[in-house]
Amino acid sequence: MPTRKLYWQDPYRTTFTARVVQRLTGDRPGVILNRTIFYPTGGGQPHDTGLLGGVRVIDVSSDDGGNIIHWLEAPLPEDADEVSGEIDWARRYDHMQQHSGQHLLSAAFQDVLYRPTIGFHLSENTVTIDLPGPPPDDEAVNRVLDFVQTAIAEARPITAREYPLAEAIRLPLRKPPTVDGPVRVVEIQGLDWSACGGAHVRNASEIGHLVITRMERRGDQTRVYFLAGGRATADHVQRIRITRDLGALLTTGVEDLPAATQRMQEQVKESQKALRQARELLIQAEAKRLIAEAPHSAGVDIVLHILETDEAGELGRLLQALVAAPSVVALLGWTGGERPRWAAGRSSNVPLDMLESLSELKETYGVQGGGSPEMIQGAAPDEETMHKVLHLLQAFAFDLPDID
Ligand SMILES: [Zn+2]
Repeated sequence: MPTRKLYWQDPYRTTFTARVVQRLTGDRPGVILNRTIFYPTGGGQPHDTGLLGGVRVIDVSSDDGGNIIHWLEAPLPEDADEVSGEIDWARRYDHMQQHSGQHLLSAAFQDVLYRPTIGFHLSENTVTIDLPGPPPDDEAVNRVLDFVQTAIAEARPITAREYPLAEAIRLPLRKPPTVDGPVRVVEIQGLDWSACGGAHVRNASEIGHLVITRMERRGDQTRVYFLAGGRATADHVQRIRITRDLGALLTTGVEDLPAATQRMQEQVKESQKALRQARELLIQAEAKRLIAEAPHSAGVDIVLHILETDEAGELGRLLQALVAAPSVVALLGWTGGERPRWAAGRSSNVPLDMLESLSELKETYGVQGGGSPEMIQGAAPDEETMHKVLHLLQAFAFDLPDID
């Protein structure tokens, strides 16, 4: 005998007693009862949780024979032939609100936009339906939501009834029934008839409020994220808090948040541009100062300088600024990172082959690096090696023939 589904007779029932029919032992203990108010995972609706004989029910499933299996945290007491149970009502009621909301929203998409629902997912955090085609525009979505809110405001009764198959197929069902026997049909009075084994609220007014939070294109389908009942209210409260905090941060009202944010983004962009320009000027000034103070040998200014900035990019920028001037050899070190780095370059009129210098460095100090005949750079294992590298390069520069 399949388990009697008390949640079909009265989805608002929260306590019951039942006879133990079978105990399952294995990885986790389970029990089959002659009847239950525990809804098993199915039809897109997650299972109930609660207590059975004082033991936590952590999962509920159904088998092909119509048995409903309560999976327990611990085995029931051995002498328990009869148990009383209680479901977590807040969880169940949330599922009922979301599931009834789904039927109503699917009916709205079908009747307003001729888009059938081809998927439904209900989890702890999200509720979605899938529709064929690309996401509808805001105006179309508003018409769908009007349909939904009207049914809620009209407080349309939601009922479930079993029909013989021959009768069921004469109803305007959303989808043809997939069962051979009697078909359980959930009706939102005068609006929607769906073959469904789920638990539903008894009146559309209990859906309370329904909002679409997001639409996502998935190939040639659209996933619609929505919230109903308590979830919609919680989401509303959270959004009010977020917009209020944003308004306080930007000292503006909710309506002006997008414009204020856009203004702020533009200001940030302008500030970044001004900062880049100021940095560039600083680097140019620094390059000029370093060249003026550098020792002069055979017509070449030989700059040796260790940067004390946090920013690695400054090494390259300062080097560029230095060798843009004529008759300069620039030797730079940077110790702001994990490993010391060095870079060396020369003006185009200085006859120093940097690659040749690099191969000597590799031979002498085993350092790594790369570059071109004008510019080389690399990392050193420690600061001491970095200094040795720069001083060797400096010696090469002092050995240059006169270019004047
Ligand atoms: Zn359903």
